[in-house]
Amino acid sequence: MTAAVLYGKEDLRLERVAVPQAGPGELIVRVGAALTCGTDLKVYRRGYHAIMLKPPIPFGHELAGVVSEVGAGVTTFREGDRVVALNSAPCDMCFFCRHGQQNLCEDLLFNNGAYAEFIRIPARIVEKNTLLVPDGFPLEHAALTEALACVVRGLEESGARAGDTMVVIGAGPIGLMFMHAAELGGVSVIAVVKREDQMGAAKLFGAACVVQVEAVEDVVAATRALTPDGRGADVVVEAVASPLTWEWAVDMVRKGGVVNFFGGPPRGTKVRLDTNRLHYGDITLKASFHHTPATCRTAFDLVTSGRFKCAEYITGRAGLDELPGVFARMMERDGGSREIKTAVFPGGVPQ
Ligand SMILES: [Zn+2]
Ligand SMILES: [Zn+2]
Repeated sequence: MTAAVLYGKEDLRLERVAVPQAGPGELIVRVGAALTCGTDLKVYRRGYHAIMLKPPIPFGHELAGVVSEVGAGVTTFREGDRVVALNSAPCDMCFFCRHGQQNLCEDLLFNNGAYAEFIRIPARIVEKNTLLVPDGFPLEHAALTEALACVVRGLEESGARAGDTMVVIGAGPIGLMFMHAAELGGVSVIAVVKREDQMGAAKLFGAACVVQVEAVEDVVAATRALTPDGRGADVVVEAVASPLTWEWAVDMVRKGGVVNFFGGPPRGTKVRLDTNRLHYGDITLKASFHHTPATCRTAFDLVTSGRFKCAEYITGRAGLDELPGVFARMMERDGGSREIKTAVFPGGVPQ
């Protein structure tokens, strides 16, 4: 079969590899659709991921497909089942798992290799993080579950409630999902976007107002002016991963509010924060990473609910053979693209 393998910085190759076989407890899934994601682009650009993968490694982690082989002992899935298999599963035994922080599991088992005709799903993911897709529901939409699961956890951690005002900085796939999920929860969203051509997407996904960074002199002041009584937002989500936007986030939140630093800047990055404002403003700083089996299920329910604008996230469609080109273009247009996610169809792009 053909599979995409990441060898290092901007070095993604298509290779012929053996079709995997299911060991005990495992599944083999014929990938129906795999989605590109900001994390993929980050890993492609940097050549590594802090904890998820080290090259050379099969690439891609957001997928849905059809079970093509069932390993010994698997009773919950059958050949032909349509499934979303998440990209990780926790051990449920370590310190962090026992403290309700499965996203920080010391033995978090990751699975990569979604950009391939087939993918092996390890037993632990089969058992804990594989979900049956409803009949007729498009696989490329179901594959949004993983990214949204991270967002759902970020939202839960931020404690935003209906009626609150939330600033979301960044209009990449994750920023847009934050806006959309928050708006569906009754939260009033102010989007802070870099470019004019991102304003439409922010509004489409529920932002009540949009601040375009390049169009205002003082981004913090312009954003605060849009919050009730100008006191700042109840919650600010940073979804850019730059030191400057981390600092903006702290300056945009109200006294007693919550900042969630969702974007992960590169190793060794430091930021300068106003300690006076943090202390006397009683501000809570959080940083959310990854998802838990519970937020995967919440995200899956939202994705399949009919309320979530799944189709709007998929702005490109490609065959597996086009993947290196897709990534090269994402790099070129980084910061200048209206693309949200590309759906990659290893079996050929459906007509
Ligand atoms: Zn992802
Ligand atoms: Zn654990």
